[in-house]
Amino acid sequence: MTRTLWHCYSFVMAKLPILTYPAKSLKKKSTPVQKVTSKLGDFVKDMFETMYDSHGIGLAAPQVGENLNILVMDVRKEETESSEQKNSNPICLINPKIIKKEGTIFYEEGCLSCPELIVGVERSQNIIVEALDAEGRLVQYNLSDLAAVCTQHEMDHLQGKLLTDYISRLKRDMYRKQQIRVRKDDDDTGDV
Ligand code: ZN
Repeated sequence: MTRTLWHCYSFVMAKLPILTYPAKSLKKKSTPVQKVTSKLGDFVKDMFETMYDSHGIGLAAPQVGENLNILVMDVRKEETESSEQKNSNPICLINPKIIKKEGTIFYEEGCLSCPELIVGVERSQNIIVEALDAEGRLVQYNLSDLAAVCTQHEMDHLQGKLLTDYISRLKRDMYRKQQIRVRKDDDDTGDV
């Protein structure tokens, strides 16, 4: 066991920095979690906080620099202003595996790690996913439509696959240059 993840890890719940394309670790394949510990539970809480703070509906561990098979999501059912809390549906999937899928759905997807990029992707419309939850219990979910799309999008992250892999090479090169330029501009004006 050579992983150094927890050695420098703060125990206070915190928002984590989200990596953006073309950060190298977004393209790496993640590894399965060997043991669900309470420290890992703290990390999952931070992932949720980071996701909510960024107004995302899903987040995978590699997006915050940890190449582990963990994802969180909260696809709310019929969100309205007054009942936002009630419809909240937080799900944490550790070492997720799709054990059944059917149908297809086409969705215009965005990604917290690919700013300003919207890509139409075809996914399975209904899935059954099996995983461990943040307490290490085996769980199974029947997910449809946006929840199924979100799960498959986040599972792509665990394979090092991004929305940029669904566009042409030409578009990807343009987007890459644009993102590097944006980052450089940020560096020039931001704190050092
Ligand atoms: Zn994403």
